[in-house]
Amino acid sequence: MSRQPDRPAPWPPSDVAGPPRARCPVAGPRTPAPSAMIIILRSDVTEPQVEHVLERAEALGYQAHLSRGTYRTIIGLIGDEQRLQIEPLRAIPGVADVVPVMPPYKLASLEAHPQPSVVSVGGVRIGGGHFGLIAGPCAVEGLEPMDQIAAAVHAAGANLLRGGAFKPRTSPYSFQGLGEEGLKILRDVGDKYGLPVVTEVMDPRRVELVARYADMLQIGARNMQNFVLLTEVGQSQKPVLLKRGMSATVEDWLMSAEYILAQGNPNVVLCERGVRGFDTVARNLFDVAAVPACKGRSHLPVIVDPSHATGRPELIPPCALAGVAAGADGVHVEVHNCPEQAKSDGSQALLPEQFAALAQQLQQLAEWLGKSVSSLPGDAT
Ligand code: PEP
Ligand code: MN
Repeated sequence: MSRQPDRPAPWPPSDVAGPPRARCPVAGPRTPAPSAMIIILRSDVTEPQVEHVLERAEALGYQAHLSRGTYRTIIGLIGDEQRLQIEPLRAIPGVADVVPVMPPYKLASLEAHPQPSVVSVGGVRIGGGHFGLIAGPCAVEGLEPMDQIAAAVHAAGANLLRGGAFKPRTSPYSFQGLGEEGLKILRDVGDKYGLPVVTEVMDPRRVELVARYADMLQIGARNMQNFVLLTEVGQSQKPVLLKRGMSATVEDWLMSAEYILAQGNPNVVLCERGVRGFDTVARNLFDVAAVPACKGRSHLPVIVDPSHATGRPELIPPCALAGVAAGADGVHVEVHNCPEQAKSDGSQALLPEQFAALAQQLQQLAEWLGKSVSSLPGDAT
């Protein structure tokens, strides 16, 4: 099947702006407009305050357009987007609010890039109709288990292999990963099965080391706002799997992506992995709405990780399918051949046969939605 996905929705997406409205045709190519924001003045604003706001805006180099309504007076500002600062304007007496017209994540926004981005990870494409199926153990535990799991997920149709060599563990006494030895094992096993590899980097000082072995660098939930690390992976130019922080809003998450993009690295894939909830029925709260919410705001591919989002094997397949139905460009699943002996996250690992059954359903659903699963790097499907 080769049906292309629908064009992405314009900013602001219809889900935040109310029902979609008829749009007038736009003649000719658009030239990039300078950024804009709207100052909403308090209903009891005084005339000297209005004058002061206009003076301040003009002193800051903005073009100001005053508009007096019956109940509210607003001032539209146009200026250089680098210089538009909301906070100082909010502090001026008489100002009720300052509303930016453009999202703060410029490079990640659909405005900047109306077509969906396609990220190539060692030849496997994710986004824009290409479906990524990332599978493997939580941690690389040794050559033999890694080889067995890789053989199984490869046979089931995964097109990317995962495994952590540096593990972010809540307890300092838990298994921390095999470090560089784990990276070597992951690389060798990935090469053996022709699977590009994804692994986490936690420390800005180790980005260069991890990038030497990995095809894609994972930024884990706990590091989503480690801005030094984001800057460092941005400079590495390697594809980045940016997991959502466990208490991050969609805007926080897109701003973290912006850190990477701002370094000139366009290869960012977002990964929804659940946020902290109050219900112990699942490890986290799988936020399926975040998938279309991101798609309505950003061109970046979005995948889902139902393993960390739910933490329970029986919840993983339905949530994986729900994520794809919601528009995800891929799925990230933890698989272990002997979960009870796993050194981390064993209780959420799918057995290889459970993964194989899920992979088949995911492939069917992805194809039905017009997405192709490239099973090998460089596969033209
Ligand atoms: C992981 O992928 O094993 C992991 C630790 O994920 P997260 O950062 O989403 O918790
Ligand atoms: Mn894990």
